[in-house]
Amino acid sequence: MKSEIDLKKDIIEVGKMLHSHGYIAATDGNISIRISQNRIITTASGVSKGYLKEEHIVTVDADGNLLSGRHKPSSELKMHLVAYKMRPDIKAIVHAHPPTCTAFTIAGVSLAKCVLPEVVMTLGVIPTADYATPTTGEVPDSIRDFISRYDAVLLDRHGAITVSQKDVYDAYYKLEKIEHTAEVTLKARQLGQIKTLTEEQVGKLTYISGIAAEKLCGSTCVNCGACGKRAVSSPYENTGTQSESLRCKGEDPSNSGEFSVQRAVSSSYEKAGSESVGLGCKGEDFSTNSGFGRNNTESLKAAIRREVLAELKMLAE
Ligand SMILES: [Zn+2]
Repeated sequence: MKSEIDLKKDIIEVGKMLHSHGYIAATDGNISIRISQNRIITTASGVSKGYLKEEHIVTVDADGNLLSGRHKPSSELKMHLVAYKMRPDIKAIVHAHPPTCTAFTIAGVSLAKCVLPEVVMTLGVIPTADYATPTTGEVPDSIRDFISRYDAVLLDRHGAITVSQKDVYDAYYKLEKIEHTAEVTLKARQLGQIKTLTEEQVGKLTYISGIAAEKLCGSTCVNCGACGKRAVSSPYENTGTQSESLRCKGEDPSNSGEFSVQRAVSSSYEKAGSESVGLGCKGEDFSTNSGFGRNNTESLKAAIRREVLAELKMLAE
């Protein structure tokens, strides 16, 4: 087992990684390690986490009372304490503001979808906790439900929190993974469509990895509990088309029957031009950034008609 001094060095190292990858700006972010049931070491408030010194790491008890150190602990310590209370299994926590995944929360576009196999196998989906005023008790309250089930949670307009049963580097890697997922998803959206994994593919990944079903959407982003929760309280629900874009995150279960059709015509995506956009994730509304998507159903029908006609023609020949 590592000494407290070595664990402080780990925090300093992770602070450097957060800073060098651009996941924090100025004095943002905080890192902690639980070293025993009632002893947590954590970063001090008001210092750059890219240039931490040992003296910037303080020791607190499970209720946040300062046990040692000359500096004040981070104002977001409450969020760490709630996570440790909810999850007796975790040893380390990282909170930062990675720009791309934070932008996803501002745009109201969820990452709680089964898209990348390695993410499904390790983290499941990535839920977003509702907006909470930073530094207040609203923040720990907002993560309470999610952190009990997920190791990586986005905070609406406020970055992300990741936890680890292993060590602080593992918590950092989870943060790196969700930012990478956000970047890949952003690029895919720029290219036009998000194709979620099929129920069968997710089933295989679940079987191989043994990941708990509660960390995933019901089936290929339909009935995602995490998103459903967010959709209910989200302001987007009341703003017309934007609510549709949010729904993909939980997706409209009434469309679930379209999956087999969607997959059947997948070969025509590349040829279908603008219509291909409408064939992405069923609930995903691309109208907010591309003007497409409103005619999803009509586009889908037209693509199917063309596909069927082509098949018939081939058979006739
Ligand atoms: Zn923060």
